[in-house]
Amino acid sequence: MLIAGNWKMYKWPSETAAFCGGLWERLAGTSGVDVVICPPYTSLAEAVRPFDRTDVAVYAQNVHWAEEGAFTGEISTRMLLDLGVDGSLVGHSERRQHFGESDETVARRTVAALEAGLRVIACVGESEEEREAGQTELVLRVQVETLADAVGAHEHLAVAYEPVWAIGTGKTATPEQAQEAHAFIRSLLDVPLLYGGSVKPENADELLAQPDVDGALVGGASLDVESFAAICEAAARIRS
Ligand code: PEP
Repeated sequence: MLIAGNWKMYKWPSETAAFCGGLWERLAGTSGVDVVICPPYTSLAEAVRPFDRTDVAVYAQNVHWAEEGAFTGEISTRMLLDLGVDGSLVGHSERRQHFGESDETVARRTVAALEAGLRVIACVGESEEEREAGQTELVLRVQVETLADAVGAHEHLAVAYEPVWAIGTGKTATPEQAQEAHAFIRSLLDVPLLYGGSVKPENADELLAQPDVDGALVGGASLDVESFAAICEAAARIRS
């Protein structure tokens, strides 16, 4: 089980060290779950330091495909590796919606990150309109096959299924909807599959108990030590 916390554009560096200390203390004794946090770039160094000798991994929220170059505002794999960062999210729906990320650029970022030795959680998911139009599988097929063609079932790749209508909205996919989408994605690309979209301590057990759900990508509820730790504990209970 893998539980990843996406902090989005929250928590500045001075808040990060306190959060990491609190999380580490709170999770002492919890086993059977891989924990990842994804702070904003400016807080990565603060997160890497306290977790250096622990099992909590630190990922960025995005990464560019070039090692360096004239790409203002971007961050490269080498920059992340030099900081001691373990991996990166790629293709989060907020990047796709607001910053023009496409399946092709998601694949380029994923290939470069994996080749550089970073781990990757690549995000896919349909919008509300697409689900209502009966296009969920079509959308997922295009997104996942682009990744599968680019990298295949790489051992450092995980995919997060995040229905866009469930992200930050409080609307969660039912465990059945999550299972159905995950089984479909697994038929295209057999890597660990995380569910994301309003995961909270109250719904984590049911979602994580689905056979094709291997973990969760948690946004809002990962900003609080107590609720994030409770989700990690739910994952540990299910696989113990
Ligand atoms: C996310 O940011 O990936 C996410 C799933 O957010 P939330 O848990 O807040 O819906």
